[in-house]
Amino acid sequence: MVDRCHEIRAFVDPIPNLFLIGRNGMHRYNNQDHSMLTAMAAVDNIQQGRTDKSNIWNVNVEQEYHEQKGA
Ligand SMILES: Cc1cc2nc3c(=O)[nH]c(=O)nc-3n(C[C@H](O)[C@H](O)[C@H](O)COP(=O)(O)OP(=O)(O)OC[C@H]3O[C@@H](n4cnc5c(N)ncnc54)[C@H](O)[C@@H]3O)c2cc1C
Repeated sequence: MVDRCHEIRAFVDPIPNLFLIGRNGMHRYNNQDHSMLTAMAAVDNIQQGRTDKSNIWNVNVEQEYHEQKGA
């Protein structure tokens, strides 16, 4: 399923007034900071009339985020 998320993105991205954000919204293992950054990017896009969602999808792609159990 996870490796087919690009198909969901390709389907929803053209919808101009729909912005998928956060952990559940993007089906991505975002932490709180990532989730807030995606929300801020969505607000920027709405304010600027930008319908391209790439800046949202570019959050949390540089490095994998893994929660680790404490000692
Ligand atoms: C156990 C646990 C520990 C975590 N610890 C950390 C941590 O230490 N540091 C960290 O950075 N991140 C942590 N995270 C991750 C962090 O919680 C998430 O990354 C972040 O909360 C995701 O934010 P979000 O806005 O995408 O979703 P959420 O914070 O889940 O917000 C979604 C909101 O939408 C509401 N909602 C759902 N459906 C509907 C509906 N139909 N109508 C109206 N409202 C609806 C929900 O009630 C919820 O309030 C942890 C997550 C878990 C589960």
